[in-house]
Amino acid sequence: MPDLMAQIGDQLTQLQERQLLRRRRTVEGPQGPILNVGDKPYLAFCSNDYLGLANHPALIAAAHAGLDAYGVGAGASALISGHTRAVEDLETALAEFVGAPRALHFSTGYMANLGIIPALAGPGDTIFSDRLNHACLIDGARLSGAQFRIYPHADVARLEYLLKKNASPRKLVISDAVFSMDGDIAPLQELLALCEKYDAWLLVDDAHGFGVLGPQGRGSLAHFGLASPRILYMGTLGKAAGVYGAFVAGDASLIEWLLQRARTYIFTTASPPLLATTLLASLELVRTEEWRRQHLRQLIERLRAGLASLSWPVLPSQTPIQALVVQDNRLALDLMEGLHKQGIWVPAIRPPTVPKKTARLRISLSAAHTAEQIDRLIDGLHTLAKHYG
Ligand SMILES: *Cc1c(COP(=O)(O)O)cnc(C)c1O
Repeated sequence: MPDLMAQIGDQLTQLQERQLLRRRRTVEGPQGPILNVGDKPYLAFCSNDYLGLANHPALIAAAHAGLDAYGVGAGASALISGHTRAVEDLETALAEFVGAPRALHFSTGYMANLGIIPALAGPGDTIFSDRLNHACLIDGARLSGAQFRIYPHADVARLEYLLKKNASPRKLVISDAVFSMDGDIAPLQELLALCEKYDAWLLVDDAHGFGVLGPQGRGSLAHFGLASPRILYMGTLGKAAGVYGAFVAGDASLIEWLLQRARTYIFTTASPPLLATTLLASLELVRTEEWRRQHLRQLIERLRAGLASLSWPVLPSQTPIQALVVQDNRLALDLMEGLHKQGIWVPAIRPPTVPKKTARLRISLSAAHTAEQIDRLIDGLHTLAKHYG
């Protein structure tokens, strides 16, 4: 026991020395463009609340109504007695919204991927994964016991090469639709074409596209006009939808199979039903309030134009995730700290969340931001660039 303590102590010291120790800030009050830490307000660019719905009055009212109707807890897992009318209605609405025959609700996106992947592939099968995929896709693939093949980011030629020479009975390609630390969109058309050609399944993780991309925010598949029984579509509900949770949508019998086999669906208490009533209200706003996506697009353009003359590159991205890559861990932290002193909150993202030597500021925009707030960030970064650039 003391040995273990000493080892962990050493490892923590090493993290500290390599500028890799992570710290939390405690936020007082609700999400929004201004976050209060202690008694100080910060202009925040660090949330995935892309449409500005996390503190919307209509959602708060729906949560109150859900609370009155269902109380707080779901009582049991969905397959025992925790599957409520609210979740049943939400699944129907989500399936219709993304244009799939059926949907299944999960507690979180992390749990969805951890459940879906091992239900679809196992030892003897092969999973093909984009190098920049989110940690929970990677963890799900590891948990499955299938062979794991990584292809370079968005490299469809390499993926084709790997698929062609693979003789596994079942092949599954997994990809973020919008890459969470870079903001670019996966070549989903090409991925689907390869899956058709080589008889593989495609799992699309649309955590950052659902609500943001496509007509009415219907997500990345709608953005490309794609539909196929080979596609399993995973969307999360804690980002643009502003609440909490996730779902997977696809062919009805595939969804039935997940209901029977996804362990993170079966062996966990169902989410509080009030979240589902809240999500039904959120879905309505996502669908009808196109101005949120229009405003967001204008803010993205404004930010990119304002940062174009910096010596640090902003990665190509048409989504609310904008990455200013400064490479060095220390520099990323210094810039975060410099902005912090100006009352602006932008997170520095370092390895292992991103590949080595690609430390960055990950700026995320929301429809709740104003153009003036974007300008404040642009000015703040230009001021720091004079010192560090
Ligand atoms: C955030 C995220 C998840 C996890 O979703 P949660 O609902 O937050 O657990 C999954 N995939 C990607 C790409 C994400 O960015």
